[in-house]
Amino acid sequence: ETVIVLFNRDLRTRDHPALAEACARARHVVPLFVMDPAIRARHRHGFLIEALSDLRSSLRDLGGDLVLRRGDPVAEAVRLAGDVGASAIWTSADVSAYARRRQERLSRACAERRLQFRLFPGVTIVPPDRLRPAGGDHYRVFTPYWRAWSKTVHRSVTGPPRVVTLPPGAEPGELPAGPRAPYGHLRGGETPGRRRLDLWLKLCLADYARGHDELAEDQTSMLSPYLRFGCVSPAEVAARAAGYPGAEEFVRQLCWRDFYYQVALAFPDLPRRDYRPREVDWNEDAHAADAWRAGMTGVPIVDAGMRQLQAEGWMHNRARMIVGSYLTKRLKIHWRVGGEHFAELLLDGDVPNNWGNWQWVAGTGNDTRPNRVLNPLRQAARFDPDGAYVRRYVPELASLPASLIHEPWKAAPRVPGYPAPLTTPDNG
Ligand code: FAD
Repeated sequence: ETVIVLFNRDLRTRDHPALAEACARARHVVPLFVMDPAIRARHRHGFLIEALSDLRSSLRDLGGDLVLRRGDPVAEAVRLAGDVGASAIWTSADVSAYARRRQERLSRACAERRLQFRLFPGVTIVPPDRLRPAGGDHYRVFTPYWRAWSKTVHRSVTGPPRVVTLPPGAEPGELPAGPRAPYGHLRGGETPGRRRLDLWLKLCLADYARGHDELAEDQTSMLSPYLRFGCVSPAEVAARAAGYPGAEEFVRQLCWRDFYYQVALAFPDLPRRDYRPREVDWNEDAHAADAWRAGMTGVPIVDAGMRQLQAEGWMHNRARMIVGSYLTKRLKIHWRVGGEHFAELLLDGDVPNNWGNWQWVAGTGNDTRPNRVLNPLRQAARFDPDGAYVRRYVPELASLPASLIHEPWKAAPRVPGYPAPLTTPDNG
């Protein structure tokens, strides 16, 4: 028997339920990745190529290979099944509207050709359709979800398969062309992802609850791009973290990820429509939107976050909340403008987390206090008290003393090259 395992958001060999079961049950297994030209991922491309390259070398170490194709994943998987005489196509279930349409098409194409089609868990810790509140199809509020999630028995974590045996005639194909050097400083792949996980658990997790909101400290795991591409398994991250003292705050963040996946499953329009409709007179000021994107709003803490995103393809969570609140609640620019910019630049950009968080920030999503507005000056005083984060990303302000770094409009003479704030300084 030959089984095709179609990879997608699960670019790893460890704790991969579909791969593990295929290798345990079938004589031949074809690990397949299809580069879908319909998916725009210019800034994530380098990370993806590195992740594929790393997956290929892990599979080669196990005796197999990663088979690579380009085109429509459904057509390519089915064609390959014909070429190698496979009887089944298995894949990990994903939740975005695009992924679900692809899964449905694949399921139909398999049925027409009498191929077995199976969906496996692995993209989230708890499958997004598992937990339901009484009288509802999904959780709208995080805390009750967290309570239910914490009580659920999680799937047990598995190691890599012992061996992967390709069938004869499975032509591996070339890695897609494109920049190998990633943008940002994170290298893609299971190997660097696991290295980061190991080090971070050992050296930093203990300080997470205290320091994860401190902007300049880099006290968070930076595992999000690895989770985005499934280079590390979220279930394994949670299970291993739980073995360390003081892990609850971190595991709670991983639960937020699962929370938004179940929201996106229930509300596929999350990137397009208000989850909780709200009357807002949105501002269409293109100049303000451009200034926000460029990190030139004149509000240092906002500009530092936006420039970190530009430079690294990643932004601290606290900064994401500050820049998001500033855009949607102060400038009153639609959350879609912010979400699109993030989706384009973030290495970890994905549908449920990006749009779920944007709607949260804009007050159209799952926040139970939709009218809250984060004051950038107060946020800066709390989470970047000496201005180290601003100094790192807004070099033209670097020589200002701590008393002026977050309010450069008070400096005399004016700091050359740095704009006056778009909004009145009193309200940030
Ligand atoms: P850690 O603090 O180490 O947390 C560990 C993991 O928990 C993260 O890797 C992530 O998978 C998960 N997590 C943490 N916070 C959240 C959260 N608020 N929502 C969902 N999961 C969370 N995260 C993404 O992965 N992709 C996105 O596209 C994305 N867009 C965002 C947009 C906005 C406006 C905001 C406010 C947040 C967004 N986040 C997104 C959530 C969060 O900012 C990142 O997950 C986090 O900063 C990643 O850094 P880390 O891995 O060091 O996090």
